[in-house]
Amino acid sequence: HHPSRIFGEGRINSAGFDLTDEETLARIEAARDVAIPDAGPLVAGEASGQTVAVLNPATGEEVAKVTEADAACVASAIEAARAWQAPVLDRAAILRRVADLYEENFGPFFAVLAKEAGKSQRDAVGELREAVDFLRYYAAQAEEQDPTPRGIFAAISPWNFPLAIFTGQISAALAAGNGVIAKPAEQTPLVAAIAVRLMHEAGVPLDVLQLLPGQGETVGAALTSNPKIAGVAFTGSTETAKMIRRAMAENLDPHAPLIAETGGLNAMIVDSTALPEQATRDIIASAFQSAGQRCSALRCLYVQEDVAEGLIAMIKGAMDELTLGDPWHLSTDVGPVIDAEAQGDIAAYIAQAEAEGRVLHKLDAPTQGHFIAPTMVKVSGIADLEREVFGPVLHVATYRAEEIEQVFEAINATGYGLTAGLHSRIDNRVQEATDALHVGNLYVNRNQIGAVVGSQPFGGEGLSGTGPKAGGPLYLTRFALAPDAPAKD
Ligand code: GLU
Repeated sequence: HHPSRIFGEGRINSAGFDLTDEETLARIEAARDVAIPDAGPLVAGEASGQTVAVLNPATGEEVAKVTEADAACVASAIEAARAWQAPVLDRAAILRRVADLYEENFGPFFAVLAKEAGKSQRDAVGELREAVDFLRYYAAQAEEQDPTPRGIFAAISPWNFPLAIFTGQISAALAAGNGVIAKPAEQTPLVAAIAVRLMHEAGVPLDVLQLLPGQGETVGAALTSNPKIAGVAFTGSTETAKMIRRAMAENLDPHAPLIAETGGLNAMIVDSTALPEQATRDIIASAFQSAGQRCSALRCLYVQEDVAEGLIAMIKGAMDELTLGDPWHLSTDVGPVIDAEAQGDIAAYIAQAEAEGRVLHKLDAPTQGHFIAPTMVKVSGIADLEREVFGPVLHVATYRAEEIEQVFEAINATGYGLTAGLHSRIDNRVQEATDALHVGNLYVNRNQIGAVVGSQPFGGEGLSGTGPKAGGPLYLTRFALAPDAPAKD
């Protein structure tokens, strides 16, 4: 057994960016009005498509234009695509160079993350750190595992982590020696273009990594039904994952892997032994940070009846302290949701809950831009949540001490299994929850968002995803062919 380069000597996780440091803040401020070039396909073949506007969710204003790839462009990218022939040590060195370039470019990244995705500065710090961590972690994992590439991967990523998840998928596929055709979310093509340009600058060849901004129905559908694609990495809705699986089953090699991270209906249980201040802080972060637009976010809180009145009052008080607004302001806690469609959908959901008299607390939202006010909604249990509402809506239920097993069962019965949280000072209860809950990530006495690459591999089971977990030692194995019989140590 050789010592792990991952957890061994030396720091592997990004040190991040200090939002109290004058020089860092000056560099961020200097990037605020950075010119954002129009974006389009970055392909070794012929680029073609229709140009559309990218909108700022906080203002509705146009940020830049993007040319969305059409079917001919997708075909020419697939035609030109090839796997990465460079030896594993060279690939790892290039991915580390990308990580360094990402860190150097934090100013422009933060500006585009705010303008295109409505990310607050604090969320942008977390996002860039995670992206950098994925690059370095998969580089190190590839050196350890020396994977055998499968061919060309399609990487289809979401708008809620337009840099971190986008980079995670691509860097894993590249570290394993594959070629990649990346399709960013329709809402967030600009940060993707900056990222891919830096990857090319660091030494990833253009025909090994191509970028195809565009619509799911055009680009996504063409990629996932082309037999030259050897596997698909996807993060997004459970519905879309089903469509992708059907397309792959009909057209791709029957063994082509789908690595999917999908939705969640995530619960937290707070019992009467929990520390109320700590639980309140972690509930607020889990439900409302990133405007609730994380698949890990807390959707349904179960509070033990004995302490419910006090805790709900504390949550209301803490909600009142949240600042909504321009994601660029350092004091902003909650930015906008991603677009008009999301805003309309979540607002209709909240209006329905209001009509039913179930809203326990609701803030005021700015009237300009696509904002949704953080809202707390009463439910009798998680079974009342018919779907994942992807925004700052926290549902609350109460339970009696003797009902704890029914609570575990109700959480499992959703069929999702991404994150869960538990606040309790009873060791046995922690063990019970660990044994009972079918979730990928269970967080105890802390918030339930923001898994850290290398120490908290992230991913769910059931309707929440296929595994293997992102940021964990098994992730690369799905991007690679099975190794020959393992060598003896
Ligand atoms: N990895 C993120 C977290 O731990 C969530 C990813 C997602 O929302 O898709 O909060």
